[in-house]
Parts: sequence; C-alpha cells; structure tokens
Amino acid sequence: MQTDQLLKGIGAAPGLAIGRAVWWRKERPEFTVHTVEDPEREVTRLKQAIEQAQEQISRLRETAAKRMGESEAAVFDAHLAFLSDPAYTGEMERRIRDEAKNAEAICAAVTQEMSDMLAALPDEYMQARADDIRDVGDRLLLILTGRQPFDPSLLEPGSVVVAEELTPSDTAQFPQGIAGMITARGSKTAHAAIMARTLGIPAVLGLGQAIDQIQDGDTLILDGTTGDVTRNPAPQAEQAAREEMRRQRERREQALAAAKEDARTADGKRVQVFANIGSLNDIELALQSGAEGVGLFRTEFLYLENDHWPTEEEQYEAYRRVLEAFNPNPVIIRTLDIGGDKDLPYADLPKEENPFLGHRAIRFCFSHPEIFKTQLRALLRASVHGTLWIMFPMIENVSEIRQAKELLAECRAELAKEGVQVAEEIPVGIMIEVPAAAVTADLLAPEVDFMSIGTNDLTQYTLAADRGNEQVAHLYDAAHPAVLRLVRQTCLAGKKAGIPVGMCGELAGDANMTEILVGLGLDELSMSAGAIPEVKERIRSVQTGAAEAKSERALAQSDPDAVRRIAQE
Ligand code: PEP
Ligand code: MG
Repeated sequence: MQTDQLLKGIGAAPGLAIGRAVWWRKERPEFTVHTVEDPEREVTRLKQAIEQAQEQISRLRETAAKRMGESEAAVFDAHLAFLSDPAYTGEMERRIRDEAKNAEAICAAVTQEMSDMLAALPDEYMQARADDIRDVGDRLLLILTGRQPFDPSLLEPGSVVVAEELTPSDTAQFPQGIAGMITARGSKTAHAAIMARTLGIPAVLGLGQAIDQIQDGDTLILDGTTGDVTRNPAPQAEQAAREEMRRQRERREQALAAAKEDARTADGKRVQVFANIGSLNDIELALQSGAEGVGLFRTEFLYLENDHWPTEEEQYEAYRRVLEAFNPNPVIIRTLDIGGDKDLPYADLPKEENPFLGHRAIRFCFSHPEIFKTQLRALLRASVHGTLWIMFPMIENVSEIRQAKELLAECRAELAKEGVQVAEEIPVGIMIEVPAAAVTADLLAPEVDFMSIGTNDLTQYTLAADRGNEQVAHLYDAAHPAVLRLVRQTCLAGKKAGIPVGMCGELAGDANMTEILVGLGLDELSMSAGAIPEVKERIRSVQTGAAEAKSERALAQSDPDAVRRIAQE
C-alpha cells in the first residue's frame, strides 16, 4: 500500500479530519430512448414519479431544517418549486404527448436543456440553479427506472465521504458523525460546500481525476483549509494530524464559549465584529455566533428572489425585521447592488461587454431613480425600528455621494409631508470597493459618517482579476500588498476625518489575517456568521503595537504569498 500520498484540491470547509474512505456511489439510471404507443400512460408514470419526488424532498427539507436551520433548508424549496414549474415538469408532459416518447427520455432531455440554459447565464446565483435542476432530474430518473439511491446508512461515524460530486440532497442525508467529505468536482460556492461549512464538516472539493486513486477503506487525512488530502498516511503523520485536530477542537470550543462577548485586543483596543447577511434567514445564526451588529446586509436577495420589483411595503417589512432583531445594535443596510454578475430576469438589463465595469450598483440606481427611491423610502420608514445605517455601493467620487444623499433627503421630505415617522439620526456611509475611492478616501471621508471596505470587488478591480473566473483565481488574492495599501490609505483617511472604517469583504473573515487587519487600523470587521467566534478569539490575542509592525512589514512585500507567510508567524 502506498503511504503518504498527497492529493491536492480546493479547501471548501475548514478543519482537519481523519477517517476511512467510503465512496458515495451513484447509480446511473439506465434507460433507452423509444417511442411509445400510449403517451398518456407515460404522463401518468411521470406524474407518479413527481409525487414521489415531492414526498422525498419534503422529508429531506425537514431533516435539513432540523440539522442546519431554515436558511440551508431553503434550497429544497427551490427543488420543490422546480417540480411544479410549468417550464420544467409542464414541459415534460407536453413533450411526452408531442413526441410520444418514454418518460425517462423526455425527463432526461428537458433536465439537460434547462440545466445547460441556466449554467450559461452570467449570474452565479442562476448557475447554482443548474446544479439544483440536475439534482431534481436525477431523482426523477431514479424513481422512473426503479433504481435505489445510495444508502447513507452505509456511512459509519468517522467515515470520509468520497464522491464525484455531492448535491445538497446528498449532504442533507449525511448521518451524524461524518468526519469529512471530498469530491472530484465542485467549488467553494457550491451548495454542498456551504452545507458542509454549516455542519462543520471539513471538505475538500475539486480533486479532479486524482480522486479515482482513493479506494473504499483507505485512511484519509484531509485539510479543509489548505485543500490537502493525504491518502494512507504514515503513522507519524497520522499521529501529528490527531494532535493538531485536538488543538483545533480546543480552540473552537474556547472561541465559541466566548463568542457573545465583545472583542478587545490584549492591550484593550475595541474592534467590533459584525455579520454579513444575505437574507432574513441568516439573522438567527448571526446572533447565535456573537455578531454585534450587521456590517453588510446585501439587499439583492429581495430583488433576486422575486419575479417583480419588490414594493416599498415588501422591503419595509424585511428591513423592519432585521432592525428589530439586532436592536439596539447597528444594522448597515446596503442599497441595491445589481448588475455585474447579478442579473434580474424581470429587469431586462441590456447585455454589457464588461458587466463588472458597467452599469451596476449605484450607477444603475441613479439611472432608475424610481427604483432607488422606493428602496430609500422603505429604509427610512423602517429606521424607527432599530439602529439603521445606510450604505451606498460602488461609490467612486464625491458627486455620487452628494447625489445619493440628495435623493435620500428628497425621500425624507416626502415622508415628512405624508406624516410618516423617520429616525432623526441615520448615519450614511459608502463602500470602498473601487480603487479610485480608496485612493481618494481623504476626499470622500468628510462627506460621510462611515466607510466599509469591500475587498471582494476592491481586489478584482485592483488586480484586474475577475472574482468569478477560475482561470485567474491564482492571481485573485485580497492579501495582495496593493490591496492592503489601499486598505491602509482608507483607514488613515477615516481617522483623519474622525469616522469609523470597517471591512465587509471576505478578507475580514480570514482569521489568519486578523492581526494584520487590526494593525492596518480597521475599527470593525464584518463576515459570515461562522467566522465570528474565531476572529474574535484572534483579536483578543493581538497586541496593537506588534500588529502595526506586522502590517507595516506586510505592506512592504511584493506578493500575497509573502504577506500570508508573515500573517502565519
Ligand atoms: C465586496 O465587494 O467586498 C462586497 C462585500 O460586496 P459584494 O461581495 O456583495 O460585491
Ligand atoms: Mg462588492
């Protein structure tokens, strides 16, 4: 047996795991494509399969809600919606009748066409729906061909699940005690990866063909942070990994126990730790994880999940709920950031050559003042229910800030005339996510009450590396000194103007970078809920002076790898 064989994948859910490999083998539903004499009989078979699929998915939804919460279970609502979508199952019925073919053949063809169509859309959210529809289609085909899906009871505690690809339906069926998971395909943003992070199961995805070398019963060490998988490790390596796992467990337990307490550096500097949320479903987990407020509420979900522009009333209701949940702590609500990779089917946005450099976010809002003002009015109305801060995205110059504030003032005046109550003080801030804004932060800062650095966009614009393009993923790293210098410049401008500067891009939740970020002078860090306990723990171990010295050294490097080495010291 070959020992210590190292395989490389993408670290998709952090943590170390050791366990025995168990292949999650999926039966391929086999069928022929043939014409039928009695299409109605096929339609009946299809309808029965849809019913069975609905029952199975509803059960999965229940299990997922219990184990992972409503937010993760929501993916199964999307699956159920597909089953009653006229464009999907309705289309299958129609084509069985038209083409007089067997249900399996039509189901497979329609699923393929819809998933290809979704996968080709530029929007990441819609691309993820392509995986969902394949998941639903495979389920229907298994039922139609009378095949059995993989039996999850084969997975004993301590198993590492090995698969070509795992869907949310698969992950939701994992029994308790799964040590980890690895797959040939999949990315960090795949639903299965998100679920693994929620369940706290270390995961390495995207191993490619190398995964075929793994056999049932192999011992595997996987590192969900670095993406390393060691097959059949030597005894010393296994021993060392077990030691490291024990240390990680202790650190996690310690961090979780103190998650609800404020974070101060060892020498007493307070750094606020907030949550990024993408929908109302995220509120509960954010509060449980110790979020002291919301540093970024991405309001796009209201627009993406609807088939119409959300009304003032619908938006008011959502904003009121999040403000009440965190009251009296601040909730930073970002105004609509549409365009770029986020498309809206009902908005009929014209195609752009370079959508990330195009008509997105505040630019779109300025050219659609009626849509923008609906949101601003809803925000102002909700402001009496908590501590609202309003944040404008993609700002790059002073006149944009003034224009946005003018529109806000107009809405305030309208509401006053209508006798609607609005909070007196509502801090207004901007995202710093365009290099021009960071470079001129000293000119922008006097115009606003706070700034928050969006490193996801700032990195792609600074490094000219599309954040969603796998081919330039090796160039895309927010720890690049060029990005850190812009962060530093923004923090200095904030200090000079006497306003707080936060960070709400992914870099803020990277615990290995916490010391450097504190050293650069950030007052607040906002991240997905799961990262909060550990980042707070890291803040507590920071000495401000040492952190500043470390960040100075980081700024003097010429590449992100060198920065990351310094961060690890
Ligand atoms: C960012 O760009 O860093 C950010 C937080 O905004 P989004 O990821 O929603 O573009
Ligand atoms: Mg952004």
